[in-house]
This record gives sequence, structure tokens and C-alpha cells, in this order.
Amino acid sequence: MGLRGKMFGLFLIGFGLMTIIVMTLLYSNLLHGFMAIERTQATEQMTQLARNLDSELDRLNQINGDWANWDDMVSYTQQPTHGFIEHQLNSAELQTVGLKFIFILDKQDNILFSNATNLVTGAMESASTFDPILANIKVRLHPESAPDNGRTCGLDNSTAGPVLVCWQQIHQTDHSGKPMGCLVVGQLLNSTILKRIQDQSGLKFELMPQTIRATEPPHSIKASIEPEMLEFSQSAPNILSAHLYNIVGQPILIARLQFSREVGQLGNDIIWKVMRVVLLVTALTGLTLLAGIHFLVIRRLRKMKIELNSIWRNGRWAGRLDTPKNKDELNELAHSINRMLALIRKQMGILESIAHTDALTQIANRRAFDQRMAIEMSLHKRNQTPLSLLLIDVDYFKRYNDYYGHPAGDEVLKEIGKLLIQVACRPSDLPARIGGEEFAVILPATDLAGAGHVAEKIRVHLAELKLAHADSPASDYVTISIGATIAGEEDLASFIQRADKATYQAKQSGRNKINVLPAV
Ligand code: GH3
Ligand code: MG
Ligand code: MG
Repeated sequence: MGLRGKMFGLFLIGFGLMTIIVMTLLYSNLLHGFMAIERTQATEQMTQLARNLDSELDRLNQINGDWANWDDMVSYTQQPTHGFIEHQLNSAELQTVGLKFIFILDKQDNILFSNATNLVTGAMESASTFDPILANIKVRLHPESAPDNGRTCGLDNSTAGPVLVCWQQIHQTDHSGKPMGCLVVGQLLNSTILKRIQDQSGLKFELMPQTIRATEPPHSIKASIEPEMLEFSQSAPNILSAHLYNIVGQPILIARLQFSREVGQLGNDIIWKVMRVVLLVTALTGLTLLAGIHFLVIRRLRKMKIELNSIWRNGRWAGRLDTPKNKDELNELAHSINRMLALIRKQMGILESIAHTDALTQIANRRAFDQRMAIEMSLHKRNQTPLSLLLIDVDYFKRYNDYYGHPAGDEVLKEIGKLLIQVACRPSDLPARIGGEEFAVILPATDLAGAGHVAEKIRVHLAELKLAHADSPASDYVTISIGATIAGEEDLASFIQRADKATYQAKQSGRNKINVLPAV
């Protein structure tokens, strides 16, 4: 996989992880925060509902308080008279204030008067169906046997439905003296009251009966809605339930409040908006980084690779990588590669020179001679310029070695090499050692006379060096035989062969000779 693919993979993993973390954080923190706000609002609405129920109870308690402190009521507990009931607590009166039932108790909690009103017809009925409620009130009148929150009103259940009930001790108007009895009044928590609460508060709720479990211990009576009374529904996320308790602390009703999920929905919308922005920013950042890496790194690396491949394929070691002006790591790398290329080029030059130089005499070797001959021959053929060649062989050199030793022979060869360089001094001339004690001189742009002249000059110069050769039949000094010829229309091999032949003939004619053979 290329660098770009790997970077893409890395970005994908990195940004993917970042997105997952952001999403998790948003969901765990922000959404939960919005949910908490939503639930707080729902709890407040439920408290509002409780307050509305309380104000209904307050309204009833007001009536009850007025009546319990009524002088006629005090008198009635002293001496129950039919007239008081007839004139003051008649069915029309009770219907007007919406009372369902009324109990007047004496000091010993005995019923002095009880009645219920048919709220539709206004007729009086028996209040005995509300006796269980009266029993609960008697429990409340003796707080040591039941929880007491100091309130004298509350909810209770009856066969006719949930009931608002209040009780007050009967006193003189000025509250002097001992209580003379107890007045209990009740109102049905009917659709009229519920509608009034709904209209006043704007809350959407319903009250559902809850079966009282006999074994359940009395719950402490709450004045307001407490968290443990609340229950958020799992199946219906917009419903908050609260248990409502009767006057002795038993759960009797469940208030189901339908609350708005706008806040939660708003939170959800915000999270998704943020997510979309995060994803967009992530994608843009990723693309920008990838584009940056492509242009700043990958593209330049590819260009370098192409330039290096071209240098390597063509052996163009003098080539250089492009080095732009900006100073970064890639530019430094290009400079380092250029320094390496320069070193390679230098080493290649040294190697080339070693490969074309004779180690002993330090003049051109056989390989250089062959290459140059091929070039000069083709130039000669193309340009019809003269090309001459000298082949030089040291006379009786085996004897020299045998007589003076091989190292001394090497010294002679070195001297001849120096001499050839001095004599064949034109830039185009190439003196070379082509065998053990055999030398050649390529003489481009030189005719046969010129070649003979150079050959003679070489021979004379050597003679002047007077290198002693005591074992030479030809002379007292080291001598050479030179064959010279000029290239004709023939091929390279024939040309060299003729030069060889010229040398051979020079040998045959007594050595220390120059033999010039013209082209055929
Ligand atoms: P001729 O006059 O016929 O050329 O006789 P010659 O002895 O020179 O020729 P031959 O071919 O018989 O011997 C060439 C000798 O050159 C043999 C060898 O000892 C000597 N020779 C070849 N290369 C080297 C070298 O590198 N160093 C030295 N010292 N001697 C060499
Ligand atoms: Mg020889
Ligand atoms: Mg020889």
C-alpha cells in the first residue's frame, strides 16, 4: 500500500475514533442534561398538579373552618336540634357549595349528624357509604396511632370515587373553651373539579385508582410531591406518574401526567446539528490534511523517484535532483541525495580512469586503445581524415629481464611510457601499452610521413636515454622496433594487422628499426 493509502487509513481510524468519542460525550453529557431539564420541568408540573389539588382542599377547608366555628354549630353539639339542620345544613345549601357528605361528631367521636347529597338532584341520602373515610378521620384525630402532618384535609377513596375530605374541631367563634366535637365535610373529586384544575393549570393528566394492598404499611403523608413518589414510565417516555396517598398514608391514586418532550427533542436536534458540523469539520480537516500531504510530501517524493530512476537508467551520474527554495526535510533529503550523486560521479570517474589506465606505465591500456581505435576508425571513414598507427616492440626484452631482473625491466617499460607521452604530445594522440613489452601510438589526423617522423623521434629519444642492455645483440642499449602504417579503406582488424606486419618486418630487418607500410 502506498504512503497515501496508509495516511488515508490512519486518518480514517483517527477521525473515526474522534467522531465516536465526540458522539458518546455528546450523548452521555448533553442529551442527559437535556433529559434532566425535561424531567425537572415534568416534576415541577407534577408539583403544580399537587398544588392545584391542595388549593381545592384549601377551598373545602375554608368552608369547613367557617362552619366549625359557627355558634349555631357549637350549640348543635350541645343540643342537637332538627331546626339547625333544616335551616342551615339543608340539601340546597350543601349542593350550593358542592359538598357530597357531612358528618358532625360529638366529643366522643359519636355521629351526631351525617348525610350525603345527591349533587344532581340535591336530595339528601345516607352517608353510610362514607363510613370508611370517617373511620380514617377518627384515626387521624388520634395522631399517636397514625402519621400526622398537621393537616386537616386530604384525599381518600370511596365507592363513589376519589374524595377530597376535611375535618375541623368545633369551637366557639373566639376559639375559647374546649373543642365541642368535629365537623367532617367531603367533596367528590369529580370531572368538574378535574376540569377546573386542567383549565387553571393547563396540565394534561389523569387520575387512576390504585388498589390498596392491605399489608402495605401506612405511608408518611407528604405535603408536596417528593422524588420517591415519582415514576417516569419506560414504555411511554412522555408520562410521569405519581402516587397519591389517602389521609392515613395508603396509596389510592396514580396521577399520570403527560409532559412535553420539547426540551429532549431540542437536545436531540442540537446533538445532531453538532454531529453534522463535527462530521463536516472532520471530513474537511481530513481532506485538507490529505491534500497537504499529497502536495507537500507525496508529489515531491514521486518527482524525486522519477528523477532518480532517470539518472539510474541512463547512468547520468552528473544529473541533479531539483531542489526548490523552501527549506524543509524533503529539500534537505534532495540536497543529501545530490551530494551522494556527486560522490558516485567522482568514484565513477576514478573507476573509469583506473579501467583505462595501465598500472605500470600510467599511460592508456589495451581497453582504452581498443575503444579509441574503434572511434578513430569510424571518424576516419566518415570524415576521410588520415589515421596513422605505430606499433612498438622492445627488442630482446626477454634477455633484458633475464640479465637485469624483472623489476629493472619494469623500469624500462615505465621510461618508454614517459617517452611516448612526451613525443606523442598532440591532444588527439594516444600512446598506449597494449601488451607485455608492446606499445602503440594512435595518431589521428597524421599522414604516413608524419607517422614515420614520430616513430623516428621515439626511437632517437630512446637511444638518447642510453638504457644499457648488455645482453642485446642489436645494441649496447635498449632499442625498439616500430612498425608504422596509415588506415586505408579496410576494416579495423586489417589496419592493425598491417601495423603488426610492419613491426614484424622491422624486427626481421635487424631490430632497432622503423618500418613504414602504406595503405593498400
Ligand atoms: P624480440 O626482440 O623478438 O621482441 O624479443 P623479445 O625477447 O623482446 O620478445 P619475446 O616476445 O620473446 O619476449 C617478451 C618479453 O617481455 C617476455 C617477458 O619477459 C617480457 N615482459 C613482458 N611483459 C613484461 C612486464 O610487464 N615487465 C617486464 N619486466 N617484462 C615483461
Ligand atoms: Mg613482443
Ligand atoms: Mg620484444
